[in-house]
Amino acid sequence: MALIVQKYGGSSVASLDHIRRVAMGIVTTKSKGNKVTVVVSAMSGETDKLLGLAGQVMSNPPGREQDALVSTGEQACAALMAITLESLGHRAKSYLGLQLPLITDQVHTKARIVELQSDILHDDMNDGIIPVIAGFQGVCDNGSITTLGRGGSDTTAVALAASLKADCCEIYTDVDGVYTADPNICPKARHLKKISYQEMLELAGLGAKVLHARSVELAQKYQVPLVVKSSFGGEKHTWIVNEEDVMENSVIKGVTLERNVSKISLIRVPDRPGIAYKILSPLAETSINVDMIIQNASTDGFADFTFTIPTTDLEKAQELVSKIAEEIGALEMLAENNIVKVSAVGIGIKTNPGVAARMFKSLSEENINIEMISTSEYRISCIIEEKYGELAVRAVHKVFGLDDLNHTKDGEHKHE
Ligand code: ASP
Ligand code: MG
Repeated sequence: MALIVQKYGGSSVASLDHIRRVAMGIVTTKSKGNKVTVVVSAMSGETDKLLGLAGQVMSNPPGREQDALVSTGEQACAALMAITLESLGHRAKSYLGLQLPLITDQVHTKARIVELQSDILHDDMNDGIIPVIAGFQGVCDNGSITTLGRGGSDTTAVALAASLKADCCEIYTDVDGVYTADPNICPKARHLKKISYQEMLELAGLGAKVLHARSVELAQKYQVPLVVKSSFGGEKHTWIVNEEDVMENSVIKGVTLERNVSKISLIRVPDRPGIAYKILSPLAETSINVDMIIQNASTDGFADFTFTIPTTDLEKAQELVSKIAEEIGALEMLAENNIVKVSAVGIGIKTNPGVAARMFKSLSEENINIEMISTSEYRISCIIEEKYGELAVRAVHKVFGLDDLNHTKDGEHKHE
């Protein structure tokens, strides 16, 4: 007997039929003697639909109201799931974030969890009741509803698994696990049976949509065994585990493409102490995540300062930075959003010299210009022109020997 947290993504609960199929799976898990807590996303397309409605009213709706609106997607789905479980003859109870409560900070639309109470769920499960939690949402200390960022239901699930001391957290989605690249971009991508928390964290942070980055961070911190499975059946799945438990040790584990990237450049900024701080601190104060930063060597007392941010924050960032640009006497501010970030990820990077050079060579062979570079122990990232993004992923995937050689033209795999 085990305590299992199962999370079902939007595509797994897309219709009443889907919900019913999922509910039958939950019942099967429970009848094997396990305790189950369920976390659901909104039905697929629902969050986008709600955001679209708000967007028709105004371009930058207040975060508090946006959160109040989008959290209803998960609310409806959790109740529908509980009703469906009841219809199958099992007791079930839905919970909103604020009913647990799941308490977050006050950063609307991308809040972080500060406290989670789950005792009530233990009581339910001991009484044979299946708790169904609306993912993605919480409540902050002033009572406002918050949300955890797009894809945040994964984080709700892992946080619950940690709090409940669950034996594992199962993430059900529309793909059967983690691949070396997005198979829609790179048809020769290979399925991974296991990947380390650290590598998965990098992949998720770099645009691999399969897991919310924060959920992987929490899983590692609280050592929650995490598995990604397809809710449409099949044997394949991917375990996310500690580094030492991953047997396969290829240098590079995956290649990602991140499209939500823009850059801002300040031209001829006076080169003196405190300038970088002045430019970037207003962004930090508004929780805009600055990623790559480049300042070129100054020659005549001036330097150019360039950094990247998510395109979704571009408008706000331009507003803030243009004020600073004037204050510090920069010549001009430039913004560009037709760029993408291609990254190679793997724990082998730190111990294998020459990995970066191989990546740069593969891009140069495709005549792709690299605009910015950053590296860490686990990844190498290049900013390139948007139109070359997919080509770059395939080139980098190939140069590191990740291509599935058993892949045939019609997309079939000859054997595992
Ligand atoms: N419904 C939210 C979204 O679409 C949260 C989630 O699905 O995890 O981003
Ligand atoms: Mg998701």
